[in-house]
Amino acid sequence: MTKIKEVIAVLENLAPLVWQESYDNAGLQTGNPNDEVKGVLITLDCTPEVVDEAILHNCNLIVAHHPVIFKPLKRLTGSNFVEQTIIKAIQHNIAIYASHTNLDSVIGGVNSKIAQKLGLENVSILSPKSDALLKLVTFVPQENTEAVLQALHEAGAGQIGEYKNCSFQITGEGRFMPTGSANPTIGEIGKPEKVLENRVEVILPSHLQNRVLAALFKVHPYEEVAYDIYALKNANQVVGAGMIGEIPIALGYPDFLEELKQNMGLSTVKHTVHGPGMIKRVAICGGAGSFLLNDARRQLADVFITGDMKYHEYFQAEGHMHICDIGHYESEVFTKEIFYDLISENFSNFAVLLSEINTNPVRYS
Ligand SMILES: [Zn+2]
Repeated sequence: MTKIKEVIAVLENLAPLVWQESYDNAGLQTGNPNDEVKGVLITLDCTPEVVDEAILHNCNLIVAHHPVIFKPLKRLTGSNFVEQTIIKAIQHNIAIYASHTNLDSVIGGVNSKIAQKLGLENVSILSPKSDALLKLVTFVPQENTEAVLQALHEAGAGQIGEYKNCSFQITGEGRFMPTGSANPTIGEIGKPEKVLENRVEVILPSHLQNRVLAALFKVHPYEEVAYDIYALKNANQVVGAGMIGEIPIALGYPDFLEELKQNMGLSTVKHTVHGPGMIKRVAICGGAGSFLLNDARRQLADVFITGDMKYHEYFQAEGHMHICDIGHYESEVFTKEIFYDLISENFSNFAVLLSEINTNPVRYS
């Protein structure tokens, strides 16, 4: 038996909710996380038709990319598709979970999937998140250093890019005097003490602070653990908006457009005029990515692929970069594969289905 919250834990292990943008509303939208999962239906958008599909296939968990509740609801009368979707889901005891801008921001998320479809190499985050890292410094008796380090790493500290278990230490002398009702591991009440200690430093993502400190307090031998937490200005290279990479062999623009259409299953692309030069560096952002135009230009992208571009934004390319608007839905539709692979790799005791409904509200004629 699997509970809904266990499926959510797997999704949030890839894309923690803490990485969602401030305007977003990702997470569990309806349903009881303690219910047993009977079946999962995967979709980009949750509509009343998708809820009907879940009912038909006996799925009581819908995993979507876009949150159906985005703005706060003041009433639930069924007057629009959002309210109709929620009412129907609740009536049929169906949980709806959305993994949105948090999934846009992580390696292995929306943009990794586009990069994979385009065959990009040397991929990195286009606009890495800043103010999301902390430094923990603590002082540990030498003989306990390995155990403390192991606990900190297991709690998620010490990851720098593709390197894990990173730390720094230097040996020095710690001094203290136990007083009052202290119960010291080393030393006696009222007597100054000197201990050979290691100063241990590790980096950690800010959302793991409580977990890492709890691990420290559990393993560190002292009654009072001395530690410092520093906020870092470093950008987190593995979390942020958009991605940039390179196609293996440079292509002329017309050939690149043909490949793009083929790889992303497109019938049409809106794009800037054909310019000279070859396409090699490709910036991408699933969904509405115009806020990353300057980042793409700064990082010398030959082309920026996204959705929802406005007329005047095409001018911002200014002949330095091509822009391709492949459509919001089209840029994100393969996100469903991320959910499918993740859930079916981790669970085998219920069905995982891809919705067959095309929820794209935009059509081309
Ligand atoms: Zn989107």
